[in-house]
Amino acid sequence: VKEHGRNSVRQFIPEMGVTAISRLNMESAMRRGLERAEFALHYQPKIDLKSGHVVGAEALVRWYHPQIGLIHPIEFIPLAEETGLILPLGEWVLNEACRQQVAWVNKGLGAFKIAVNMSSRQFRQDDLAERVANIIQRSGVDPHAVTLELTESMVMQDVGSTLMTLRSLKNLGLSISLDDFGTGYSSLSYLRRFPIDELKIDKSFINDIHVNPDDAAIAGAIIAMGLSLGLNVVAEGVEKNEQASLLKEMRCTQVQGYYFSKPVDATAFEGFVLKNQAR
Ligand code: C2E
Ligand code: CA
Ligand code: CA
Ligand code: CA
Repeated sequence: VKEHGRNSVRQFIPEMGVTAISRLNMESAMRRGLERAEFALHYQPKIDLKSGHVVGAEALVRWYHPQIGLIHPIEFIPLAEETGLILPLGEWVLNEACRQQVAWVNKGLGAFKIAVNMSSRQFRQDDLAERVANIIQRSGVDPHAVTLELTESMVMQDVGSTLMTLRSLKNLGLSISLDDFGTGYSSLSYLRRFPIDELKIDKSFINDIHVNPDDAAIAGAIIAMGLSLGLNVVAEGVEKNEQASLLKEMRCTQVQGYYFSKPVDATAFEGFVLKNQAR
């Protein structure tokens, strides 16, 4: 216990497990990280399958810890959710994404939408629409250029309040995307009643689409259903050309994945857009 140093939490709570200790450390490190601006956004292009153009940028948060280095969201988003730190972090993310979108528009580059992930706890805030409206207004971003990605399981939790929240967000001019689609249990009737604009087919359905006819059938059915409801349908996690061409045959609207680009920092994203425009 002693070798961990005077300032370590380990000294004071010796009965706690390693996991609990690192969680405590992690929480305070995250708090500090927010104060010290250690978080950054990476962007992954959303590509229109017909034209091949970049039509969107999904903002994905990264944490550059001064000692540990790059930390991916899977390592800290769940804890941020539990502790409530997701609320200030989520506000920072939305604000930063909007600020970046405005900067891109000013550079003549912003002919694409910015997509921001929202967690369950953020989505369930009573004053969410007000908070989002404030950020939109302060940043000066065109709300029609902002998409909020909400997971399917999140919106199905309390459909009554979901419907009200979605309406208030739509009233602001935002677009709504149902993320990780296919992994939750959406009833098709809600899909029709919710004011959503986009379905994002989860990567798990896309992985083997080019080798497994069952997966291809499922993806094809989701695409057909989404299109018939007038929705934009995005496939995530596209890593191979074969997947992309199959999705194009199925009339999927947009694709996203390593085959086109990994999530990259704002400067690299600009480079990708410029190269894409020159094609
Ligand atoms: P997600 O919203 O489903 O984002 C897609 C994840 O898949 C991203 O991981 C992305 O880097 C990764 N990905 C994209 N294309 C490919 C591909 O072709 N192959 C593979 N193997 N992976 C691909 P990332 O950035 O680590 O984010 C993981 C999750 O963390 C996100 O899943 C999202 O749920 C959450 N997240 C990320 N940023 C934020 C944020 O700002 N706020 C909130 N609330 N959650 C976030
Ligand atoms: Ca997402
Ligand atoms: Ca997703
Ligand atoms: Ca996913």
